[in-house]
Amino acid sequence: MVKLKARIGVVAYQGAVSEHLRALERAGAEALPVKWPRDLEGLQGVVIPGGESTVIGDAMQTWGLLDALREWVRDGGAVFGTCAGAILMATEIKNGKPDQPRLGIMPLTANRNGFGRQVDSFEADICVRGIEGSAFRAVFIRAPYFEVTDPEVEVLAAVDHKVVAARYGRHLATAFHPELTDDLRIHRLFIEMATGGQKNPG
Ligand code: GLN
Repeated sequence: MVKLKARIGVVAYQGAVSEHLRALERAGAEALPVKWPRDLEGLQGVVIPGGESTVIGDAMQTWGLLDALREWVRDGGAVFGTCAGAILMATEIKNGKPDQPRLGIMPLTANRNGFGRQVDSFEADICVRGIEGSAFRAVFIRAPYFEVTDPEVEVLAAVDHKVVAARYGRHLATAFHPELTDDLRIHRLFIEMATGGQKNPG
């Protein structure tokens, strides 16, 4: 039997859009840019890329994608946010702009620029729960970290005791940028989550 390719969208206003599209295609999915609410039709997963969370959030609000995505998530859709994208998934944002638009689908606090301004970017070899084999080379660029208190949020990775990857039902958030390396294991994990059996909590 021929296995159908997963259809995964990438929110395509600003940030590392083409890098995610390429990584998803290489990981075996059909990858499509998402700008309009109607672009969500037929997708199993949506990636919100890194970039600038205030800019991406404003654009998502302007184009009607925030409300459309919330509804799509209620119908079972899976979301993967990297860096700025992860900030937009959080219910709480520390150091955000006042009333910064957000999706707010993952019950955690994103501490924006949480590694400090003096450490603009760094790389680290980290262990990620659910990823087999060697350590994952993680690229951090003005990255947030996450504060997790909800027991339904599973911590997948930490750096210096700061949570940098977490999972909530079918949703995945990473503070780092897996699309900037050739390692496809995290994109493969998300494709599995988006097409697998686990449901969204709540
Ligand atoms: N600090 C940025 C923000 O708040 C995120 C940086 C990134 O996505 N690499 O949006």
